[in-house]
Amino acid sequence: MTTLQDCRALDALDPLAPLRGHFTLPDGVIYLDGNSLGVLPKAAAARVADVVTREWGRDLIRSWNTASWFDLPQRLGNQLAPLIGAGRDEVVCTDSTSVNLYKVLSAALNIAREDGPARRRVVSERSNFPTDLYIAEGLCRERGLELVLVEPEEIPAALTRDVAVLMLTHVNYRTGAMHDMAAVTTTAHAVGVLTVWDLAHSAGAVPVDLNGAGADFSIGCGYKYLNGGPGAPAFVWVHPRHADRFWQPLSGWWGHAAPFQFTPDYQPAPGIHRYLCGTQPIISLSALQCGLDVFDAARPLGGMPALRAKSLALTDLFIRLVEERCAGHGLSLATPRDHARRGSQVCLTRDEGLGVNGQGSGAYAIVQALIARGVIGDYRAGSGAASDAGQGDAGRSPNKDILRFGFTPLYIGYEDVWNAVEHLRQVLDAGEWRRPEFNQIHAVT
Ligand SMILES: *Cc1c(COP(=O)(O)O)cnc(C)c1O
Repeated sequence: MTTLQDCRALDALDPLAPLRGHFTLPDGVIYLDGNSLGVLPKAAAARVADVVTREWGRDLIRSWNTASWFDLPQRLGNQLAPLIGAGRDEVVCTDSTSVNLYKVLSAALNIAREDGPARRRVVSERSNFPTDLYIAEGLCRERGLELVLVEPEEIPAALTRDVAVLMLTHVNYRTGAMHDMAAVTTTAHAVGVLTVWDLAHSAGAVPVDLNGAGADFSIGCGYKYLNGGPGAPAFVWVHPRHADRFWQPLSGWWGHAAPFQFTPDYQPAPGIHRYLCGTQPIISLSALQCGLDVFDAARPLGGMPALRAKSLALTDLFIRLVEERCAGHGLSLATPRDHARRGSQVCLTRDEGLGVNGQGSGAYAIVQALIARGVIGDYRAGSGAASDAGQGDAGRSPNKDILRFGFTPLYIGYEDVWNAVEHLRQVLDAGEWRRPEFNQIHAVT
């Protein structure tokens, strides 16, 4: 049995422990929701204040040059690149994940069309994050293509010669199940299918090697594991073999080869630069930079490989402690135990029929009771569809309600994991979650 003392000893030996000092974490909070909104880097408040008061307030329009505002999307892209296996000048930080997906999926569909008119399908996972599916649905509708949604194990069979693009999220937002990017990309390429990878739950959470996998296009989120702040700019990567082939559809002036020539016609900038659209949100980009700076500070301590090792140790510990200490409450694991298939979160389901008067799984109320105790995770509603995956089939998209706990190794420690599970045990043992105030549904879950 693992004890609290064991967890404290692990923290004392953890070479990454000093990284927590780079963040502002409120007292009394164990934050297990960094996969939804990352925490505040300590440097961000002063950095944003400086951008506002000095760069904007005093230096005004000169700051585009004097503060190098103009190339901030490229500079941050280069800072981020090593985290995702991208090269120099292959990434820009800009726009939202949804918007960047629209750009890369459009470009991928244009490239696929060069292969002939036969490729009429886009394949994705039924349990992909909804915005990804909505963007793909809209594009397919616009172009008269078909969006085909499958379960993860059905992907290889779905990759036929009439498929243009395979669009996947590397780590599933619900289950935390992770695809083998290199293997899936190889399978797709064997039948001439291009790949688009969403790294929303991967960048800064697990090592990623886009170039090593030979991936085609990728996008990802700035406000989750990268700690860029609410609504932080996202990022976009295009393999150099594709970057110059097509205009992306949002051909705004910031992606122009010479924006300050003000010519009436569009001439795309070379490379990833053309994936910019319009004027960039400098204040938000400045905050994102503070999040990326922490990964620079992590590099001498072992960088992503060390962060990954700690993330797996944290999620292993959480799973073990839940199984040891919360047994008998109907919880099941919906995240793969296999390290090679696990991202940086753990997702639990709860057998139905245990709720108040058949009120459902209690997952929502358990999360609310934990939040009231300062343990912040989140809840994601099940789809209610008939097929189910919870038990014994970890990694398949569960249609059940889930309790979701993200573990950011930059600032979560082993004792935090112990304490989180102890709160969960108390909430379950005492039936605290049945209280009415924990059963009122809020707008944002
Ligand atoms: C969080 C997330 C997004 C968010 O998209 P926005 O455009 O920032 O709202 C998109 N895709 C996936 C897979 C995500 O997890």
